[in-house]
Amino acid sequence: MELVQCTKCLLDTTAPTITFDKEGKCNYCVYFETLEESVLKVPIDRKKEKLLSILDEIKKNSKKNEYDCIIGLSGGVDSSYLCYMAKQWNLRPLLVHFDNGWNTEHAVKNIENITKILNYDLITYVLNWEEFKDLQRSYFKSNVLDLEMPTDQLIGAALYEIAYKKKIKYILSGHNLETEAINPVGWTCKIKDDYENLKDIHQQFGSIKIRTLPKLSIYRKYIYEVVFGIQQIILLNYIPYNKAEVKQTIIDKIGWTDYGWKHFESIFTRFYQGYILPNKANIDKRKMHLSNLVMSHQITKAEAVKEMEKESYPMSMQLEDREYVMKKLDFDEEFMTGFLSNKPIAHENYKTNQQLKIRILMFLLKSVLYIPVRILRFVGVLTKPIQNN
Ligand SMILES: [Zn+2]
Repeated sequence: MELVQCTKCLLDTTAPTITFDKEGKCNYCVYFETLEESVLKVPIDRKKEKLLSILDEIKKNSKKNEYDCIIGLSGGVDSSYLCYMAKQWNLRPLLVHFDNGWNTEHAVKNIENITKILNYDLITYVLNWEEFKDLQRSYFKSNVLDLEMPTDQLIGAALYEIAYKKKIKYILSGHNLETEAINPVGWTCKIKDDYENLKDIHQQFGSIKIRTLPKLSIYRKYIYEVVFGIQQIILLNYIPYNKAEVKQTIIDKIGWTDYGWKHFESIFTRFYQGYILPNKANIDKRKMHLSNLVMSHQITKAEAVKEMEKESYPMSMQLEDREYVMKKLDFDEEFMTGFLSNKPIAHENYKTNQQLKIRILMFLLKSVLYIPVRILRFVGVLTKPIQNN
C-alpha cells in the first residue's frame, strides 16, 4: 500500500486511524489546532494567574508535611525541567527515581547532578529484577504491542504508593501539550494503567509469582485519589515550553547533558522505540515526536523531514542493544527473530479493566463513597481536588 503523508506534519498512513481533510491535513493536526485555540493560546497572564493559584493551594494544603509534592525523575528533558521549575516555584518536592534495571549511565549521571544542584531529597525505587524480568518476558510472549506498559504502569503505582506512605498529596507530572499532545491511536495501548490487562498477561505467560512489584488497580487508585486526596498535577502547560530553550536551560542551570533522542534515558526504551517498533510494527515514533514540534511551531516540517533521514539511532548500537536485551531477558535468537516477524496483537485480546464485572464494581464503589466524600470535603476533613489540566 502506498504511504500517504499529512501535508502539514510527518504522520502518515502507518498510523492506523489517520484520516485526511480536503487539503490533505491529518486529523491529528486538526486536533492540535483545536487544542491550540482552547489551551495553548490562552494569554500568558491568565496562565500565570492560574499557575500561582495552583501553587498556593499545593503549599497551603501541605504545610504540615516535609514535602509538598512528588516528582518522578527519569533523567529525561521534561522531568528534569520540572525539577528545575519546582525550585523556581519554591516547592519542596521529594524526587523519586524508578530503577527497572534498564537505566543508562547517562540518565543516572543527570539525576545525580540535578539532585545535588537543586539540593532535593531523592528516593530510588528499585524493582525486584527477577519479578520485573518475568513480567517483561510475559509481554514479549503475549505479542501485544506496548512493551512499555509494565514500566509506565509500575512507575505510576510506585509514585502513588510513596505519596500515600509519606502523606504527600500531589504528584507533579512532566507531561506537556506543546511537545506531547499527539499520540496516534494504535501506536500505544489505549489504557496505560490497565492493571487487569497487565495481570492477565502475566498470569498467562509469566512463570514466577509477583510479590513485591507495586500494584495500582483501578479501585486502589480511586481510593488513593478520592479518600486520601492524592492527585496528579500538570503544571508545564501554564508556562511557555520550547524544547530547545528548555534543554538549554537545564544544561546551563542543573548540569544536565544531552543524549540526543527523546526518551532514550533507558536502554529498553531506546531499543523498543528505535528497533522493535519499526521492525515489528512499522511504527517510527520519531514521526510523532517531531510532528508535535512542527505543530507547535518549534521546528519546520523541512527540518523534521531532514531529521527523519537519519537512522533512529546508530546501527551498531541497535545491534549491541539487541544482544544485550536478549541476554538480559533470556531470549535466544530464534525467539527474537520469530517475535519480530509476528505482527503485534491488540491488548484487548486479554482481560481489561473495561470488563463488565470491573465496571459494575467500580460503579458500586463510587456510589458508596459519593455522599460521605462530599460531606467530608464540605466540612474540611478531606481536601478538595485542585482543578488543573
Ligand atoms: Zn498532520
